[in-house]
Amino acid sequence: MDSALEKARRRIEELRREIEYHNYRYYVLDDPAISDERYDALMRELIKLESKYPSLVTPDSPSQRVGGKPREGFATVRHRIPMLSLANAFDQGELRDFDRRVRSSLPGERVEYVVELKIDGLAVSLRYENGLLVAGATRGDGETGEDVTANLKTIRAVPLRLRQTVPLLEVRGEVYMSKDAFRHLNEAREEAGEPLFANPRNAAAGSLRQLDPAVTASRQLSIFAYGLGEVEGVDVRTHAEVLSLLREMGFPVNPHYRLLPDIEAVIDYCSRWQEERFNLPYVIDGLVIKVNSLEQQARLGATMKSPRWAVAFKFPAEQARTRVQDIILRV
Ligand code: NAD
Repeated sequence: MDSALEKARRRIEELRREIEYHNYRYYVLDDPAISDERYDALMRELIKLESKYPSLVTPDSPSQRVGGKPREGFATVRHRIPMLSLANAFDQGELRDFDRRVRSSLPGERVEYVVELKIDGLAVSLRYENGLLVAGATRGDGETGEDVTANLKTIRAVPLRLRQTVPLLEVRGEVYMSKDAFRHLNEAREEAGEPLFANPRNAAAGSLRQLDPAVTASRQLSIFAYGLGEVEGVDVRTHAEVLSLLREMGFPVNPHYRLLPDIEAVIDYCSRWQEERFNLPYVIDGLVIKVNSLEQQARLGATMKSPRWAVAFKFPAEQARTRVQDIILRV
């Protein structure tokens, strides 16, 4: 066999094993062993090798999958509309590449973007039938999540009844823990001699994915809603309208979103948050850029793993390194 191909095959296997292990630590145990930057670097190396040697791509590669398997002990919930991950952009060039891809699929059309903060928590889906919250689930592997309805009901910011009744509304959002709540929780755990959470994201995930809802109730969790799943009786045409509707229905929507006319305005807005983010009371790990028109979104569609109409801009790793001290002190 070609030795370069053989070498790539061995490295791909090694990367897959390593990434699977870190996925398990992160998504199932809520106890990551490496930083997100390090994880992203492993995943990028895998994707680069796989795109150079497409014959080595397999459907079970972590590059083709979303999130993790449900934890044992929870009932599982099937998402009728999958809860996907997001493709990443790590710099301005990759944001422009995203814009180029979008516009080349929509030739001659005007494309506007909504930019939102990317809250570092965990994605959940909340199902309301005739205005009442009937089910809540984690994203899990995107197709199947964990039934955490009782736990989600303990979060004060989650409406148990919508402010306007519609036949069906599935709301997607991010459950998170504020920096203050995280600090207090870890202080209490230290005093009790319990293991500490690595960051607010793990604390939020560990708190929501409890078999005993009383434990979740004792933790200060909150939520920002950012999207819809299955709906009936709702008429919206743009993502900006979705966010307004979510507010009207009674959900906290992060106020720092912007509707912007083009990718250069998006890049400016993203740059602004590289410093500003340290002043927020919660952790963000980037920004999410979404095509505003829902009709254009539908035409762009999705890959197995992520929609083609959205991208996550992740703050540069260098920034993270020079800011490590800051993060530890100010998280
Ligand atoms: P992601 O974090 O790259 O992006 C998708 C998620 O963003 C959504 O599921 C949702 O939860 C969240 N999100 C926040 N705000 C949003 C908004 N406004 N609109 C839409 N979505 C929003 O994808 P992922 O699959 O959840 O996680 C992959 C990332 O997790 C990796 O890039 C890495 O940083 C981290 N990770 C780290 C380890 C580790 O060991 N350190 C292991 C696995 C994953």
